[in-house]
Amino acid sequence: MSQERITTLLNENRSYLPPEHGKTSAWVCGAEEYDALCRRALEDPSDFWGARASQLVHWFKRWDKVLEADEVNHKYKWFTGGKLNASFNCIDRHLISGRRNKAALIWQGEKETDVRCYTYQMLYTEVCRVAHALSSLRIRKGDHVALYMPMIPELFIAMLACARIGAIHTAIFSGYAEGGVRSRIQGCKARVVITADAAVRGGKFKPLKANLDPILEKCPSVAHVVVVKHAGLENVHMQRNRDIWWHDLIDDFTLNPDFPCEPMDSNDTLFLLHTSGSTGKPTGVMHSTGGYLTYAAHTTQWCFDMRDDDVYWCTADAGWITGHTYGVYGPLSLGATTLMFEGIPTWPYPDRYWRIVENFRVNILYTAPTVIRSLMRMNEAWTERYDLRSLRILGSVGEPINPEAWQWYHKHIGSGELPIVDTWWQTETGGAMIAPMPYATKLKPGSASKPLPGIDATVMGSAARDGEEPEAGCKAGHLVIRRPWPGMMQGVFNDEEKYQSYFSRFGCYASGDAAEIDQDGYFWILGRIDDSINVSGHRLSTAEIEAVLATCPEVGEAAVVPMPHALKGEGIYAYVVTRDEVPWSADLRAKLRDAVRRDIGALATPEYIQFVDGMPKTTSGKIIRRMLRKIAGDSYEDIGDTTSLAEPEVIPKIISGHRNLV
Ligand code: ATP
Ligand code: MG
Repeated sequence: MSQERITTLLNENRSYLPPEHGKTSAWVCGAEEYDALCRRALEDPSDFWGARASQLVHWFKRWDKVLEADEVNHKYKWFTGGKLNASFNCIDRHLISGRRNKAALIWQGEKETDVRCYTYQMLYTEVCRVAHALSSLRIRKGDHVALYMPMIPELFIAMLACARIGAIHTAIFSGYAEGGVRSRIQGCKARVVITADAAVRGGKFKPLKANLDPILEKCPSVAHVVVVKHAGLENVHMQRNRDIWWHDLIDDFTLNPDFPCEPMDSNDTLFLLHTSGSTGKPTGVMHSTGGYLTYAAHTTQWCFDMRDDDVYWCTADAGWITGHTYGVYGPLSLGATTLMFEGIPTWPYPDRYWRIVENFRVNILYTAPTVIRSLMRMNEAWTERYDLRSLRILGSVGEPINPEAWQWYHKHIGSGELPIVDTWWQTETGGAMIAPMPYATKLKPGSASKPLPGIDATVMGSAARDGEEPEAGCKAGHLVIRRPWPGMMQGVFNDEEKYQSYFSRFGCYASGDAAEIDQDGYFWILGRIDDSINVSGHRLSTAEIEAVLATCPEVGEAAVVPMPHALKGEGIYAYVVTRDEVPWSADLRAKLRDAVRRDIGALATPEYIQFVDGMPKTTSGKIIRRMLRKIAGDSYEDIGDTTSLAEPEVIPKIISGHRNLV
């Protein structure tokens, strides 16, 4: 079997040097400093992480040991013996550091005039009130509290109130359907659920409390439901002795709101959060207090070069890890101003993000390729009418950003100058792992660049799926992390076997993603190991073929999956969403095939190209290729649970399109 790899992403040879302007005041300035930090961090990790933990985090009691590692069971305890509280770090200490009256949280509601702003002092008061309120519901250290809430300030406040008490919060994305919500509440036996009357999305109300009521019939652990009046829905059913309005509950604690922070052990759990479920059943990931918080602050400061007067906007919903680390814990522990938006980028018009950037003079914008691609499909005039000059750094997370989308982001949002910080990481890793430093790293569009200082990432085995032959001497393979880092998950909730499965193949943490390392040491994420394609012995990556399809101006989004093929083992099946108003045609199919043939080679040419209106996506916006793979292979029956999709109605449409095509 030929082991040749065909690559085109690696032919992406455009590169961008870090901007000169502002460089000297950067946290990490220039390639030499970056290299020196990497060397130091790997030579003496304890010293490196210990220094970061003392610079960035306030400890009630200093740790005895930076790392206690149980290599046999792959259990890593950071800053053992240390005592701290995440809420204290995100709020209290800023009250005495001159940031008392600084904006901690700016909230933009879906309606343009719905804006709220909390200074650090105001945030303190609110969080203390809610901590009192939760405590009055008998929530104590170690209890689980589920948060099924829209993107409103009360969500961040509830997270920080839980952290203050030492309760473990579990955020449940408000877009989830019944099953996802129930299993998460049942799984952790939450005693209290906090929700709202409704979430507002695209001009419509999603009645969260009404959705929750039937779910709770099968959740006996839940003693109380706290409901935020957000959308002002009428006739919200409130069950006696169980349900209580948020405003009524905190009303009792308006006079003397101080609530002392519970001193937590560094290895006490801060929160439980599920992965996005792109590859299967979501995993319940647990994060520690000391290690996680250190890593959140560390990566926020260095990857986004966070400065004291920055307005920082991470667009991710706090139902996902990105919203936790880069919406709440990272920026607030640094005393920054974090912006929160309840709404979608395209409603009422596709200029929503740029209005917000202009209105609040946002300096750092961190969003996802799915957003960038959806806005790219629209006319550029939606961006051009806004003054985006406040922006200093752009970020991307969630999926590989194809070079075409990168270039668009760079040109139209970043005026051809701003650094784009493409951050590769996972719920399990707690924070960014492979990412550039904006003032130190040369950028290559489509590559997340190099591992951060202290992160020992490499590739092992081959890019093959389990059970396939490894390719010898290859720089492509399973992306693994050889040494522990403070943001690493503590464990998988109630599933030790799943936790161990991350380590079983290579003896170190295996991410489940495939990557290739180029001659400069840059990492190119090729997609999930499970998604890679083997055509006649040639290993092809989904990300590469998709990136080529996306270079055609007619293409808005592309997803590539393997399909069974009698001769080649596997063939390639491509799903394509065209840009606005581009008609589907046989000519376009031929053109797309030609593009792949020309750029990658005949072997990578798709057998079929199916035009679709939309892709099946997780609610966090990631394409679920396993469903597309099932359809391409004609097995519609075991397609899996489609109710958790952002738009479940796309599936029957794709199936009928597939039937007509093949
Ligand atoms: P599940 O683990 O349940 O299948 P998931 O892996 O999508 O879902 P997350 O932890 O939210 O859940 O996402 C992590 C994954 O997202 C990574 O493993 C990677 O595949 C992808 N990813 C995140 N950021 C990037 C990036 N910058 N470049 C490429 N891929 C990325
Ligand atoms: Mg995952």
